[in-house]
Amino acid sequence: MTTSTAETPTFAELGLAEDLVQAVTALGYEEPTPIQSAAIPVLLAGRDLLGLAATGTGKTAAFTLPMLHHLDGSRPGAPPRALVVVPTRELAMQVAQAVHVYGKARGVQVLAVYGGASFGHQAKALQRGVDVIVATPGRALDHLRRGTLRLDCVGQVVLDEADEMLDMGFQEDIEALLAELPEQRQAALFSATFPSHLRHVANRVLRQPQRVEVEPEQVEAGEVPRVRQLVYLVQHAHKEEALARVLDMEAPESTLVFCRTRTEVDALSNALAGRGYRAEALHGGLSQLARDRVMDRLRNQAADLVVATDVAARGIDIDHLTHVINFDLPTSPEQYLHRIGRVGRAGREGTAISLAEPRERRLLNAIEYRTGARLELQPVPTIADLRERRLDLVTAQVREAALDGDLEPYHRAVQRLLAELDVSLVAAAALKALAEATGPDDQYEEDIPQMAARPPRPEATRPGEGRAEGPPAGGPQRRPREGGPGWAKVFVGAGRLAGIRPGDLFGAIVNETGLPKEAIGAIQITDRFALVDVAEDQVDRVVTALRGTKLRGQKVPVHRDRGGR
Ligand code: AMP
Repeated sequence: MTTSTAETPTFAELGLAEDLVQAVTALGYEEPTPIQSAAIPVLLAGRDLLGLAATGTGKTAAFTLPMLHHLDGSRPGAPPRALVVVPTRELAMQVAQAVHVYGKARGVQVLAVYGGASFGHQAKALQRGVDVIVATPGRALDHLRRGTLRLDCVGQVVLDEADEMLDMGFQEDIEALLAELPEQRQAALFSATFPSHLRHVANRVLRQPQRVEVEPEQVEAGEVPRVRQLVYLVQHAHKEEALARVLDMEAPESTLVFCRTRTEVDALSNALAGRGYRAEALHGGLSQLARDRVMDRLRNQAADLVVATDVAARGIDIDHLTHVINFDLPTSPEQYLHRIGRVGRAGREGTAISLAEPRERRLLNAIEYRTGARLELQPVPTIADLRERRLDLVTAQVREAALDGDLEPYHRAVQRLLAELDVSLVAAAALKALAEATGPDDQYEEDIPQMAARPPRPEATRPGEGRAEGPPAGGPQRRPREGGPGWAKVFVGAGRLAGIRPGDLFGAIVNETGLPKEAIGAIQITDRFALVDVAEDQVDRVVTALRGTKLRGQKVPVHRDRGGR
C-alpha cells in the first residue's frame, strides 16, 4: 500500500494502471520521486516532455512507467512500438531491466541493443518481435541500415541523458535515427543539463513540450544545517562494506541511515545485523505499532542505529541524533536538506554522510549547488585506516585503565612476564591481544577500490539559465588536468580515411570499458591514426578493450603511445 501526503501524490493518483502501481509497490517504492510526480501525468496525457533530471532522481521510472501504461500488452512478432536512446551500454542494460521489471505483468518484450555485443543475437531477437528497444545510437543505426530494425511503428521515443550523448559525439547518429520515426509519435528528452547545442536537438524532436524540472527554491545561506557533510564515492557492490567501515571509523552515538525503498531498508538492516550491528528497520510496510516501537527505542536511546525510508522517517524529531547517513542518495536537493536537517539540532554537532555511486556525481553537483552545501569528498577508509583506528581506541582504553589504577593482579602477571621478556615487548603484545579481541582481523571483506572524484565542470551557470546542476565541489581527490601528469596517450591505428570520428572512439571506449567519460580526455584524429588521452591508470584497460572490438567494422591496431612520430 502506498500512502499519500499533502504534497506528494501516490503512484495510483498519478493515473498509472493498477499493474504498474503494483509493480512499484512490490519493489518497495513508497511514493513517487519529485521528477516522477511532475513527469508521469504529462506523459500519460500524451504530451511531449523536456525533463531536466540527473541519474539518481528516479528519471528512468518517470518515463518507463507511462511508456508501459501506453503499451497495452505485448504483440509478438510486431515491430517495436517504443524506442529509448541512451549514451552507454551500461545505461541501456539498466533501462531495459527497469522496463522488464515494471512491465512484467503486461508481458512487454524489451531488448537492449548496444555495441560490443553480438549483432547476430540482437538481430534474431528483433526478428522474433520486441515491444521496446533500448539502444545506443551507433548500434541502433547499424541495425537500421542493415534492415534488422524498423522504426516506422514507434509511437513513443525517449532520448535519455541527451547531454551525455551529444558530449560523446552522437548528434549525427541521433538525428539519423529521428529521421526514421513516424510523424505521429510522442517524444520525451531527459537531460541533466540543457546546453545550447542540445536546444537544437530538442527543437527537432519535441513538439510543444512541457518542461519539467525539479528545482527547489535556492536555499538562503544559513538555512543549510551547520553539520559536517561527507561524501564517499563507492560502487554499488561495495556500499554495504563501505557503510560498515564508515560506522567503525565514526563510531557514532546515534544514527539514522536512509534508503530509498522498503526492500532496501529490510535488506540493509538484515545485512548490518549479520555483521554484528544492532540495526532496526523503519518503513511504511511495518504496522504503526512496530514503527512506534522503533521510534520509542530511538528516542530513549535503546536503539542507536535505525535504517529508514524517507516516508517513515518523516517527522522524526530527535535531538540526540549525531549522524545521518544516506546509504542511497536522496532523489532531490530538497530531500537532501530534509534528511540532513535531522542532525546538528539544538546547537549540537552533527555529521551527514552520503554514499554515492560515481554515476550519481551530477546529482551530487545539483545537491551542492542548490543547497549551498559544502560536501567533503572522502576516501573510503582502508583496512589499514581501520586497524589504526582500532589501535587508537585500544590505546585510549589502556591509558584510561592505567589512570584508573586497581591493577594489582595484573602487576603480578607482568612481573612474571618480565622475568623473560623486555617491558616494551610485553606492553606491545598486550595491546595486540586486546585489539584482536575487539574484532577479528578478517572482519572486513576486501579492499574497496577508491573511485575517481568528480571532475571540474567548466560550464557552470547560474540557476534559471536552464541547468539542472551547478558547479562541482572541490575535493581532495581532484582529477589531474587532461594531458598533464596522470594522463597518457593511446594510439589507434586508423583515422579519418577509415571513417573514424571522435564519437566512435569515445563511444567505443565508454561502452567497452564502462569507464566514466572523465577518464577520457582529448581525442586527436589524423588521416591515418588517432591519439586518445586517457587517465594513466586506465591505459591498459582501454587498450585491451579497443583491441577486442571493431571500429567502423574493422579491427585496428591499438597500443600505448610511445611518441616518435
Ligand atoms: P534513476 O534516477 O532512474 O537512475 O533511479 C535511481 C534509483 O532510484 C533506481 O535504483 C530506482 O530503482 C530507484 N527509484 C526510482 N523511483 C523510486 C521511488 N519512487 N522510490 C524509491 N526508489 C526509486
